[in-house]
Amino acid sequence: MRSERFLLVALFAGVLCSAHAQTMDSREQNRMLAEAERVRKTDKPKARQLLDAVNRTITPATDPLVRGLALALECTWADEPPAAYRFFADAMAIAEQTKSAALKSKLYICRANALQFEGKSRDAEADYAAAADWAAKARNGAGEADARASLAFLEYNRGAMADALSNLQSAYRISASMGDEKGRLDALTLMANVYADTKVAQYDRAIEYYRQLVVGYGKLGLPSDVADTFYNIASTFESKGNQAAAELHYRRALAEFEALKSEKDIIYTRRALGSSLMKQGRLKEALPHFDAAMAFYESRKDIGNIAFVQQFRGSAYRRLGRFEAALRDLEAARAYFENEKNTRFLEKNADETALIYEQLGDWRNAYVFRKRHEALQNELALARRDELASRLRIEFDAEKKERENRALARENALRAAALREAEHNQELQLAVIILTALLAVALGLLFWRQAVNTRRMRAMAMTDDLTRLPNRRHILAAVEIALAEAQRNGQPIALIMLDIDGFKRINDAHGHGAGDEILKRVARTCRLTLRTPDQIGRVGGEEFLIVLRGATTPEHAGEIAERLRAAVEQLDLSSIADGLHVTISLGVCVTKEHDAKAAIAAADELLYRAKENGRNRVELSVQERVA
Ligand code: GH3
Ligand code: MG
Ligand code: MG
Repeated sequence: MRSERFLLVALFAGVLCSAHAQTMDSREQNRMLAEAERVRKTDKPKARQLLDAVNRTITPATDPLVRGLALALECTWADEPPAAYRFFADAMAIAEQTKSAALKSKLYICRANALQFEGKSRDAEADYAAAADWAAKARNGAGEADARASLAFLEYNRGAMADALSNLQSAYRISASMGDEKGRLDALTLMANVYADTKVAQYDRAIEYYRQLVVGYGKLGLPSDVADTFYNIASTFESKGNQAAAELHYRRALAEFEALKSEKDIIYTRRALGSSLMKQGRLKEALPHFDAAMAFYESRKDIGNIAFVQQFRGSAYRRLGRFEAALRDLEAARAYFENEKNTRFLEKNADETALIYEQLGDWRNAYVFRKRHEALQNELALARRDELASRLRIEFDAEKKERENRALARENALRAAALREAEHNQELQLAVIILTALLAVALGLLFWRQAVNTRRMRAMAMTDDLTRLPNRRHILAAVEIALAEAQRNGQPIALIMLDIDGFKRINDAHGHGAGDEILKRVARTCRLTLRTPDQIGRVGGEEFLIVLRGATTPEHAGEIAERLRAAVEQLDLSSIADGLHVTISLGVCVTKEHDAKAAIAAADELLYRAKENGRNRVELSVQERVA
């Protein structure tokens, strides 16, 4: 029901309109379009109303001039290219057809705007240039000045500074000759902006122009342009490195923006002021400006500006030694820059972060971020070189070439400084690595020496000095272990108690030194005669105790004891004294006894029996049998 009624109304309106179209002639249409153009800036709704009225009368048969003018006017409302593109084909066809230079100019401007919005800058430049030429032919000064200023802006962005300046000079001259003071000042502003650009770096000339502009805009009663100009002066002084003058002018701009209650501009200026204060080392003064900016951008969820302020504030925190807060800000900013692939700010961010970790002594992270910083620096240097190369392809006038050279020299100086810094950092890293390595080696040596000492002390505590055999304590412990093991296996063990015969006499006859030597020889002979797993230790003056390991039968134990006895008897001791011989007596006890003392006592008892039975002999007993 509802849609049917709507359809009826639409049909009725359509009939009315077409009826109206037939009644409006092209003179009337032209008059209405001219009126719309006239009030376009002062009374937007009325202009729109007039244009809509004309649009309703347009048919394929309408005069192309009227259609073209209507399209050109439509274009000024189409601030988004998709809307504008709808009528481009038509507009350009008309531009080709019409002989009206004024209309041609308007239609080229129209398409240039859209192309610029689309990012097709070079095509837009061509259209602006055509528009300027046609406007000149149509003696439309304002149109030409507009087109040239727009063209200059694109040339400036492309780095074609000389072309930009010459177009701005034209726009300036035209506006001046027409008495269009606002147009003249706007052209001058753009010129000053070109001079203030770091690539051109004619800061003094730019500042001189800006000072004229403050006066000019002031006379026209345009406070917001005055404020903008103060801001421009400040940022030019900042580029020049004169932070005090920059601060002064940021404060002037701030006062103007505050009078205008333009919050966005106030914040933007405070942020720049904060940055300038920071460069002067006045960190505590800078912080409130950054905080205010943060609060403002956060309330608007403006993540881009939040990230930029975080970067600045993080840097301020770092210099104030508030490392935790600094890391928090820098990390948040980094996430945004990474997403945006903003190499320039990622590089600054990595540098700041590395500095913090260096100051915190967190060398691992410092190293990671320093490396990242270097990589980004390289990337930037490469990009700068590409930019430089493409700029060199553009034709320069003499002045510009010189400027270029100066820029190049600065570039080189910067890169050399960056390289020096990178090298310095590398040296620092190397020093840290070497120091760490040295420390590790020193600690290792210390531990090693400690271990060696401990081992030596242990060995010393367990070894008999004279014979280098296990001492009494050591061999008694070995007996305990062997007995316990034998107990577990249900096997007997064999103990041999050994004593040198008539040793007192030998000492008396040949001296104590000879006695010592004999002790050593006997010890070595016994050790060499025994198998490796068997253990021998010195338990007294010239008494030794032997533990035979493994399943030892009484016969086998007796054999070993006999072998020891024979080996000592055959020892050639002539180097000590002519015809010297020593003998030993041995008591061998094969036992399942679990008490070491009792077992040793049993072996001792057998040794005593060997002595009694004439010395130089073996006495063997199997305790089980005895028991
Ligand atoms: P036997 O065992 O055959 O009964 O007679 P012996 O002369 O060996 O008797 P005893 O065990 O009484 O004498 C041991 C001597 O060994 C006493 C001591 O002077 C000497 N002696 C003990 N320790 C050492 C030592 O470290 N070096 C030297 N040179 N002599 C020692
Ligand atoms: Mg003896
Ligand atoms: Mg003895």
